[in-house]
Amino acid sequence: MRFRSLLDLVPFLPAILAQTGNSSKGSTNCRCLYGQSCWPSEQDFSSLSAQLSQPLIRPVPPASACYPVGNPSGNCSDVQQNWSDANWRADQPGAYENINFETYTNRNDSISGCYLNTTLGLPCDQGSVPPIGVDARTVEDVQAAVRFAGQHNLRLVVKNTGHDYLGRSAGRNAFMIWTHHLKNISYDGNFIPEGASNNEVVPALTLGAGVQWREAYAAAAEQQRFITGGISSGMSVGAAGGWVMGGGHSAFSAKYGLGVDNAVQFTIVKADGDHVIANAHNNSDLFWALRGGGAGSWGVVTSVTYKTYDLVPLVMSVINAVMLAYTVETWTAGDSGDIVRQARQRIAQEVRRLDPISPDSATYMNEASLYEPDFRKSFFGSHYDRLRSIKRKYDPGSLFLVAEGVGSEDWDGSLICPV
Ligand SMILES: Cc1cc2nc3c(=O)[nH]c(=O)nc-3n(C[C@H](O)[C@H](O)[C@H](O)COP(=O)(O)OP(=O)(O)OC[C@H]3O[C@@H](n4cnc5c(N)ncnc54)[C@H](O)[C@@H]3O)c2cc1C
Repeated sequence: MRFRSLLDLVPFLPAILAQTGNSSKGSTNCRCLYGQSCWPSEQDFSSLSAQLSQPLIRPVPPASACYPVGNPSGNCSDVQQNWSDANWRADQPGAYENINFETYTNRNDSISGCYLNTTLGLPCDQGSVPPIGVDARTVEDVQAAVRFAGQHNLRLVVKNTGHDYLGRSAGRNAFMIWTHHLKNISYDGNFIPEGASNNEVVPALTLGAGVQWREAYAAAAEQQRFITGGISSGMSVGAAGGWVMGGGHSAFSAKYGLGVDNAVQFTIVKADGDHVIANAHNNSDLFWALRGGGAGSWGVVTSVTYKTYDLVPLVMSVINAVMLAYTVETWTAGDSGDIVRQARQRIAQEVRRLDPISPDSATYMNEASLYEPDFRKSFFGSHYDRLRSIKRKYDPGSLFLVAEGVGSEDWDGSLICPV
């Protein structure tokens, strides 16, 4: 896009101001970002802190422990040793499985980030790691954080493991709710969803929002039960976060279905701060949306209850993974913004090349690209309008926004200003 005069820039000023940190309180409908005058004061944060079970957290990119280079602020050898360990990354509020999501590309193509390779001589910047947040350990922590974000019109990010392939748990200058420590697990062999009749009994495992698959499998096995979930080395994916809201594919899905087929109940903090149950009998529209309507668009899930199965020796005779095209583009520490942009363009081109081959097909959003030509069609198809109206009902102010999520088309690419 080329601008002919400064006047042409006027429609874009809210977005530009929001990104440069110069907008003043109440002057736009844009989300309030760290560094702007609208950002909550220390006193506001103290009032929030008084309602929490834990101190506020100040997430930093993991490599920041190695800076300043001559006098590292943290345990740099620990960082170097664990850099590629997915479970170690999930334990850090400021770390992401794909480290590119820790960086931010500025408008002038320079990159803000913090690289492990200190010999590059680059500064260590915050990038897309939210600078402050809540280490949620209780439902009340989540409620206080959600209300605070709503009251101050903050760009809100919900982060669990940070594994998301679309980077939806990162956000520059945002406020973070970190669900990683919501680790409660309980088994009920006679679970009846709230409001259901006694003949709907199901042996079920209820997992807090921060439980990861390795923990869920172990808890199920202790009860001589099996739960169908994600498979990866280290089993570090969240069992009750983005995985299930995006569908929840498992190597066992051919026999037991997707995660969404096995989820019988959610508990969730809505945008208004209320904590509710969503199942087939309560808030059934929200229950429907949470089972495949995409992560991060409906509220903060605090727990998911899954059906379990008898633990029998499982034989996976054939796992057929058919990939029409598998495109990975990444960039390395020190690459310029221009190289990053070119990599992004190549992905977008590859994704567009697939469209004519499979015109009416869909895309699995949990393992998709940020460059879907029309995410509404490829992720949600004919369900989109219904999802949109459920979104309006439960989150009328669009507090919960993620890239390529329901309702995100009304916002700019950074999810900061309405368009
Ligand atoms: C190593 C690896 C293996 C994988 N294996 C599989 C697999 O076998 N099957 C499969 O289907 N997918 C798989 N995925 C993809 C995975 O399901 C997605 O990346 C998913 O989004 C991860 O969710 P998370 O909550 O762990 O991560 P995060 O990055 O923390 O969160 C992902 C999204 O969910 C939102 N979110 C997280 N928790 C909550 C919550 N409590 N309430 C509301 N929103 C929330 C976040 O805001 C974000 O939008 C894998 C990914 C990786 C990196």
